[in-house]
Amino acid sequence: MIRAETILMTDSANQLEKFGKRIQRCYGCFIAYHLKDMYLGEDVTFFCEHCKDDTMFHFDEFSKLMDLSKLDQPGDEHHHH
Ligand SMILES: [Zn+2]
Repeated sequence: MIRAETILMTDSANQLEKFGKRIQRCYGCFIAYHLKDMYLGEDVTFFCEHCKDDTMFHFDEFSKLMDLSKLDQPGDEHHHH
């Protein structure tokens, strides 16, 4: 009777894994990395481990805080506000 919950968890884990495999350019050095190796700064800026500072969250941290379903919307375009 835990089937629905199991599916939900699996779905969320898949989404997280997919999200982690996204390529994102570091805002500091403009080298592309996988998101799972990056750090989140203010204004949804992403930095690599060489450019991050202590105020930023590693992917493992911010992925828990973020609503991934909002980030993964279709029609997601390359502009930042
Ligand atoms: Zn960098």
